[in-house]
Amino acid sequence: MTQSVSKLAKGIKPSATLSLKEEIRSLEREYGFRIINLTVGEPDTGPTEDVLEALLEGGKLHKYGPVQGDPELREILSGVINKEIGVRYDPQDIAITAGVKGGIDILMRVLLEPGECMGIITPFWVTYPESVKIAYGIPCFLEPDENLRPDPEKWPSEVEDKNIKVLLYSSPSNPSGVVYTKDELEEIAKIAKEKDIWVMSDEIYSKFLFDGKKHVSILSIEDVRDNAILVDGPSKRFGVPGWRVGYVAGPREVIKALTKLQGHVNSGASRPAQYAIRAAYTSQKAKEATEDMRKRYQRNRDIFVKGLNEIDGISCVKPEGAFYAFPSIENFFAYKYEFAGEEYTIRTSVDFRNFLLRKAQVAGVEGTPFGMDEYIRFSLATEEENIVNALNNINHAMKELHL
Ligand code: PMP
Repeated sequence: MTQSVSKLAKGIKPSATLSLKEEIRSLEREYGFRIINLTVGEPDTGPTEDVLEALLEGGKLHKYGPVQGDPELREILSGVINKEIGVRYDPQDIAITAGVKGGIDILMRVLLEPGECMGIITPFWVTYPESVKIAYGIPCFLEPDENLRPDPEKWPSEVEDKNIKVLLYSSPSNPSGVVYTKDELEEIAKIAKEKDIWVMSDEIYSKFLFDGKKHVSILSIEDVRDNAILVDGPSKRFGVPGWRVGYVAGPREVIKALTKLQGHVNSGASRPAQYAIRAAYTSQKAKEATEDMRKRYQRNRDIFVKGLNEIDGISCVKPEGAFYAFPSIENFFAYKYEFAGEEYTIRTSVDFRNFLLRKAQVAGVEGTPFGMDEYIRFSLATEEENIVNALNNINHAMKELHL
């Protein structure tokens, strides 16, 4: 066979967490380690019983459903958006997708011509640049300020110079936990309006806000509503990432185009899962379970981020939402350590990640795929005991670094 897979397929980066899984497994096998895994991007608890029962019942829906998604679920989501963001989106202006990821993937092809730029606010969720490339678009990165906050005052010239067609971000942010303020969103909205470009707002972590913060969406800014597209879904808030349901709300033209493409890509999200998600958004028990998770993750954040900041050389912006900590580790570049009779030097975030795996038996994800090599991401969606033990282990391991 002389043919090979496409240049596009070759150029896409594999998911960082997959190669990490391999590394964890091989260290556990070879050295008998029990590694505390703080890499996972999903809640540590699943759906409530009533929602699970609805999924079983939904199994009866075995035929193809409407490509745009279950009309009753879209009706419910219209109410959710109205209540949580304060804007009325007609069910016609909402499409259910195969996970939030499925919606983002199709939106790239709906919004971009090949070769056009997607402006991604750094640091970003690992999938954004790859899904832009899958649509033959070009990811362009917009730098944050020193506290990892959006810095929109600097961006108008970049938007113009690079001919950026869409701005994309997540707030609360994966990986930094930064939650965009109304002022920051207004600045972003102003750029979108003035430059006549789209904004894609990924709000999948909106239920995980700390310290009494209230969620603000760019959709609530009336001026920009014609340019703004919301992507959100139940994966995180109800602990159902495996069910593959998400949704998109936005201008009718965009939703129609997305639905048309979705009809050929996957025929829409799983029907039983959509049926069960109806129950999730209307269940009091599910609502309480989300709130329990939020409280636990806030407590984990309090313990972990305080502990990290007490370590000489590590500094971590205090996450305001989501369930990650994203500390800077660049002060340790050029430091060395010994493991299994060999000396290693830390030069990148991958090296630092390997240092923690080997010397602390703690797994985090290197910052590179999030657009910042000087950082490392830890997931806080786990038992408090794991957070406490991980912190202890990291503290001990740091003492073994030397120049
Ligand atoms: N957006 C962000 C910011 C995420 O972190 C994730 C999952 N890690 C997703 C979207 C994907 O969500 P889903 O599982 O619904 O596709």
